[in-house]
Amino acid sequence: MAKVRCPICQQWFDEKSSSALPFCSERCRTIDLGRWLGEAYRVPGPETDEKAGAGAVEGPPPEAD
Ligand SMILES: [Zn+2]
Repeated sequence: MAKVRCPICQQWFDEKSSSALPFCSERCRTIDLGRWLGEAYRVPGPETDEKAGAGAVEGPPPEAD
């Protein structure tokens, strides 16, 4: 399985499960489009960035030592 990370919501997903690559969904693609248009295009819905960090495994946390 090829896992890719959505540049909008930062969620990992299987690229085969999405029809809106490189985004995880049509919603995120719309959000990206809205940003390009100066955020005039608003998409309703809650923000789900970094929520509980579920699945957001990017590497070991930095250790202050
Ligand atoms: Zn997304």
